[in-house]
Parts: sequence; C-alpha cells; structure tokens
Amino acid sequence: MAELLKGETSDWEMIIGLEVHAQVLSHAKLFSGAPTEFGGEPNTQVSLVDAAMPGMLPVLNEESVRQAVRTGLAINSKINLHSVFARKNYFYPDLPQGYQISQYELPIVGEGEVEIDLADGSSKVIGIERLHLEQDAGKSIHDLSPAKTYIDLNRSGVTLMEIVSKPDMRSAEEAVLYVTKLRSILRYIGSCDGNMQEGSMRADVNVSVRQPGDSLGTRCEIKNVNSIRFVRQAIECEAHRQIEIIERGGAIDQETRLYDPNRNETRSMRSKEDAHDYRYFPDPDLLPLNLEQAFVDEMRASLPELPDARKARFISDYGLSAYDASVLVAERETGDYFDAVVRGRDAKQAANWVQGELFGRLKKAEISIENSPVCAEALGGLLDLIADETISGRIAKDVFEEMWGTGKGAAAIVEEKGLKQITDTSEIETVIDSIIDDNQDNADEIRGGNMKAIGWFVGQVMQATGGKANPKAVNELLRKKLSG
Ligand code: MN
Repeated sequence: MAELLKGETSDWEMIIGLEVHAQVLSHAKLFSGAPTEFGGEPNTQVSLVDAAMPGMLPVLNEESVRQAVRTGLAINSKINLHSVFARKNYFYPDLPQGYQISQYELPIVGEGEVEIDLADGSSKVIGIERLHLEQDAGKSIHDLSPAKTYIDLNRSGVTLMEIVSKPDMRSAEEAVLYVTKLRSILRYIGSCDGNMQEGSMRADVNVSVRQPGDSLGTRCEIKNVNSIRFVRQAIECEAHRQIEIIERGGAIDQETRLYDPNRNETRSMRSKEDAHDYRYFPDPDLLPLNLEQAFVDEMRASLPELPDARKARFISDYGLSAYDASVLVAERETGDYFDAVVRGRDAKQAANWVQGELFGRLKKAEISIENSPVCAEALGGLLDLIADETISGRIAKDVFEEMWGTGKGAAAIVEEKGLKQITDTSEIETVIDSIIDDNQDNADEIRGGNMKAIGWFVGQVMQATGGKANPKAVNELLRKKLSG
C-alpha cells in the first residue's frame, strides 16, 4: 500500500523513478585505453580520444560490454543483441567532444526487474526500463582560483552504465531499498564497486506528486545525488516543496534541480531539456554493436549466486529467518563468510555470532569483513568448542576478544589460559557446598520456597570458578541441594 504524505488540504502520493549512473569496474575507458583509477593527479589519465583531439576514433572496450551484459542479466533484463551508440549533443566546458557518446533508441539492455524487501516482510518488484552504456564527462573545478575554472579530464570517457527504473517507487524508503539492492547486485557481480563517495555510483532522482487516482503530475529531476541518505532526504524535501506549491494554487515547472544537503533543500539548476534538444543521432564513428547469443549465455554462466537466490538458500538450507538471511546476504563477502562459518555447524548460533560479536567488533574497529582478524575458519573453530562443551558461551566471548587481539586460534587460547569448562560434577559440588555453608540464610530462603533466589547462587558459583563451571551442571546441582 502506498504511503501518503499529508498536505494542508489533501493527501498526496509520491511517484519516484531513478536513473542510476554506475561506473563500470574496468582498467580502461569505454572508447580508449586510458586508465580509470580514482584519485590520480588531474589530467594524467587522458588519451587523445578522451581529450577529443581532431581525427581521433573511438574503439569500443570489450570489458565494458561484458559488464553491461552481466549486469543486465543480474537485474533480470532482456539483452538486446543489436544496439547502437548515439551522440547526445550538448555544450559543457568539461565535455571536449561537444557530445556524449551514449545509447538512445537501441540500448544494450531492455526491460527487467529488481525485487526489494519491504519492512513489513512483503516484497515489491521495481521495473527496469533499460540499461545503456555511455561515457562520463570530465570535471570542472571552480574552487582553485577566484577567477578561473579548471578542467580535469581524468573521468572523461570512463564507462558508465545508466540504469533507468520505471516510476514504480511510492516512498523515499522504497527508493532507498531499490538503490541499496541495486548496489548490492552490482557489487556481487563485480561490475561496479558501488562506491558513492568516490562518485562511482550516483543517482538522478525523478519525483512528482499527485492525489491518489489522478494522472501523473509534472516531475522534477534531482541530479547526481551521491549517497543513499541523500536519496531519502532529497526525495522527502522535494515532494514537500511540490505539495506546497500545488496547494497554494501554483504549478510545478519541469526542471532539473540540485539537492543541497547543508540546507536540506533542492534548488533549480536549469529547465529540463527534452530528448529532442540533444539532437541524438547514431555515432558515425562506431558500428552498431551486435552480440552473439553464445556470448550472452557465457556471461550468464559467469554470474555468481545473486543476493535473492542466496537469501532463499539461507532460509531453506539453514532455516534462518528472512531478516537474518537478508542481513547476511547484503554484501557478497558477508555471505561468503557466513557460508564458511556455518558449514557443518548450528546455523542459528553461527548467525548470532556473525551478526552479534563479529559485526559489533568490525563496526567498532571500522574494518570490513574481508579484513577481519578473526577469519571464518577461526570463528568456526570457536563455535566447535562451544558445541562440544569445551567452553561455555560466556567464556567464548572472552576467547573471541582474545582471538581478535592476538590472531591466535580458539583452541590455543583455551589451552593457554586454562579456560576449559568444568564438567566434573564432584569438582563443582565442592564449590557449591562451600558457598552454601557460607550463606545459610540465603539457602534457607530458597528451601522455604523462594526459588527465584537461586540465580544468586548460580552467579556465586560462576564467579568462584572464573566462569568455567558448566552452567547446566551448576543449575542441576543447586536445585538438588536447595530443594526443600
Ligand atoms: Mn546519463
């Protein structure tokens, strides 16, 4: 059900569509061999093609095509065996060609769908309109000089996949879930690193509002939103801006806007161009792109298990809840880690340890799971010691801390520090007897029927044994000795 926004005079429905630009992970640009690494000195990664020197001809990079096809397959989309590169003409100082090579009428990928999981446990399909390949532009730098603008062409010609959704989202939350899911899929298949801070993934957000049941309102496009949090904020403040204008009797101008996170507002950038303003035409320097079905099949075979399939497997094979499964599959590396920990072990316990101790520690240290000082095999080793009752779950937490700090294995730490659980009941009994002797009043209270107070004795025994007594044995023995 659509989430409605309250206005002064009416309820309003948001209509949201996203155009996500994702930079393809490749060592070369779309039509040149220049490198693409982030953070290089300005204008050190520019070929003559990227600088649009006269007479230079573009040569299509096969890796970009491979990644576009893999991505299209991963978002359940139709691959077009025949596609065409087109020139999109416009003037901008950081666009030396005077046009961007993109795809217009015949993109490499057609319609498809991405499924998002909503907070209430249901799921929703967001339609994909198309995915096309295009060149990125350079960058204008305005803050190096009060009087001049500098141009850095390192990014000029870098391969982008523009992934256009249908206007299927009805709340900022759905848009956030969609971008998050898309990012997860791209990272799973390795077609884009999804790094929004570095600009390798950014979203143009189309927002309009209408009263439920009305036809579509006029939309505004908010350009280059570069974090998932800003996607949410930009949509919310833009929808409220539009509602206010309409309720005051005004009309929305179709325009391109910018989101300013400092002031949490959107500002007009320019009136929105229509497609015919760009005078698209097929690029005469490039042949149409024709793919063989066998190539597409090969790309399909190269895909790893994707997040949806993995989530379904975690639920069916490991009996995890949908929530636990979706947390554990969100990043490919996390899913790999969990797969390795859970092998031959109790799945619920493995899920708790990964999401509890491990995630907590990783977050505190601000490191990613691939760089965890406790690898999956090591954590598995720790879980084995709990399973065979060598140590209690309580002691295991201390052992985990020690593993984190020293890199040693669980068994070695337990041995070295003498943390083996005491399961010998006569040893535990001796401890219990002496504690009861010293605390006859408390013992009498329990014998008199107040069984709740038994917890205090459990705590005393655990303390006296340094946490090493088997908690089950302690409980059983205490009940036997203290029952009326
Ligand atoms: Mn674009």
